[in-house]
Amino acid sequence: MKFAQEFRKSLQRGGFPQKWVDSAVPYRQLKKCLKKVTQELCELGLDKDTVARLAAGAKHPSTVGFHYIFDGKDGASKHFRPKLTFFIHIQDEVAVDAQLTPPTRSFLETIASRAPKALTDWPDQVESPAMTESIDDSNPGEAPVLRSNPSPVRRVEVPLVFDGEFFDILQTDVSNLDALQEEEQDKLVNQITTLGHEISKATKPTRGRKARDDLEIWRGIFVSYVDACVFFSTREIDHGARTSAQAVMQLQWFQDQVLSRKLIQRLRLDKSRQAYIRFLNMNALLLQMLKFQEMNSLAVTKILKKFDKRTSLGVSRVFPTTVQSTHLFAGSAARDICAQMSSELIAVVPQLDDYLCPICFAVAYWPIRLDCQHVFCSRCLVKMSRKVEKYCPLCRAEVLMQAGLDNLDSKRAAFLREYFPKEVKEKIRANERERNREIFGPNYSDSPCSVM
Ligand SMILES: [Zn+2]
Ligand SMILES: [Zn+2]
Repeated sequence: MKFAQEFRKSLQRGGFPQKWVDSAVPYRQLKKCLKKVTQELCELGLDKDTVARLAAGAKHPSTVGFHYIFDGKDGASKHFRPKLTFFIHIQDEVAVDAQLTPPTRSFLETIASRAPKALTDWPDQVESPAMTESIDDSNPGEAPVLRSNPSPVRRVEVPLVFDGEFFDILQTDVSNLDALQEEEQDKLVNQITTLGHEISKATKPTRGRKARDDLEIWRGIFVSYVDACVFFSTREIDHGARTSAQAVMQLQWFQDQVLSRKLIQRLRLDKSRQAYIRFLNMNALLLQMLKFQEMNSLAVTKILKKFDKRTSLGVSRVFPTTVQSTHLFAGSAARDICAQMSSELIAVVPQLDDYLCPICFAVAYWPIRLDCQHVFCSRCLVKMSRKVEKYCPLCRAEVLMQAGLDNLDSKRAAFLREYFPKEVKEKIRANERERNREIFGPNYSDSPCSVM
């Protein structure tokens, strides 16, 4: 199937909102316009083979070179204009290349005669064919020497109409797509924030038993979700944004985890169950956005390749960097939204891992915040100060000696008591046991005395 047809069908079958479909890359229109570009170039004698030959000047020495670049934005348009510039060594008056077709020759003669008498240097971006001709190999056994070519160069810009039209359509569409994505992303971010508030409110431990149970379950759900790295992996092994196909698999893995642990059935509040459905819907929407972005990005790549194949002008590599699309080519949406999910959503359900003392790996209670802002449990710090340690074990700042009662983070202590009551109680008991062993010796046991 031809790509144009394939693209249209995928858009129809993708289940995208009509507004999205309407702003998709107008592939057919671009293809039609490309025909006009090709025709225009052919009429000038610049068919793709000739241009390819001129581009590969080194292999077929001639006296002509050119470059095709995206020039700055002019006043009338916010878009970059493509510009075709020829450089002709005038030493031979006009391109003397036996291999040129008559129309190309006449084109070059015309533009050379029109060229201003002002001379220029052969530009760096264009390989100077004449230079390669003057490789000095008269001293066999020595490396060839490049002699700079003394012949003057005329620079002529070739005014084309339809390439401007082509890139105008393309750039307009890319910026429309960027705007659409921005809008959808904002909407999604708002939904994430709202959902985060709702889950946090519903599962506040002070609201009772059901809330506390659900909080525990949400913890499990989000641990699996973070493990799944659905849209963006932070792991070293596969770091970066996922493709939509990978995201589908990861999302499936996440749902399987949740199902196999019967997490949803165990949710006790209606609000929690509804929130979970909305959470899944958000993921589905993000997945759609990713798919849509991939399809459009592919369409742009395809049409630019076609452009190069039909004209040999070589734009497919420069275009994406020149237009500097913020979304279409950057693939930043997934990363941004994932960051949003972890800060707004996953963080509302506190995870024990984030509150462990980095020395004893138990909940950091009582939490002591050193001046470097690192938090440890009071017990570990007491032991360290006995050994006259001066430095924070994480950042090596010299803050340990100054630490005192003022460093107790009482807000965090209250938070830990609320969200991790079990772990806090266990930690208090462990601290006591340890202290008693220090006082009464290693055989101390806190179990009640049994009478023989
Ligand atoms: Zn500790
Ligand atoms: Zn530190």
